[in-house]
Amino acid sequence: MKIAAQSLQNVKAYIRPLDFYRSELPDMPPPRGSGWRDGGLCPFHPDKHAGSFRVNLETGAFTCFSCGTKGGDIIAFVQQRDGLSFPEAVQKLSNDWGV
Ligand SMILES: [Zn+2]
Repeated sequence: MKIAAQSLQNVKAYIRPLDFYRSELPDMPPPRGSGWRDGGLCPFHPDKHAGSFRVNLETGAFTCFSCGTKGGDIIAFVQQRDGLSFPEAVQKLSNDWGV
C-alpha cells in the first residue's frame, strides 16, 4: 500500500493531538494547558486505574508507565492500537477526520 504524501501532510497539519485524544480517550480528564497530561485509562492494556497513561497534547506522543506502550505521535497511536502499518494508519486518520 502506497502512502499518499498529501494524506500524511494533511494528517500532520490538520489533526490536532488535543482534538484527537479528546475524541479517542473518553476517560481522559478535561485537559488544562498543554504538554504531557493524564490520558485516563490506557487503551493498550486492561486498565482499571487511571494514572499511568500519559499523552502529550502538543506532539501527540503517548506513554504508559504500566504496560510500557509508547509512541511519538497520533499515527503511532493508531498503528499500535489497531494493528496497522504506517500507511494504513495515515489512511485511516485521513478518512476518519476528513482531511
Ligand atoms: Zn498501558
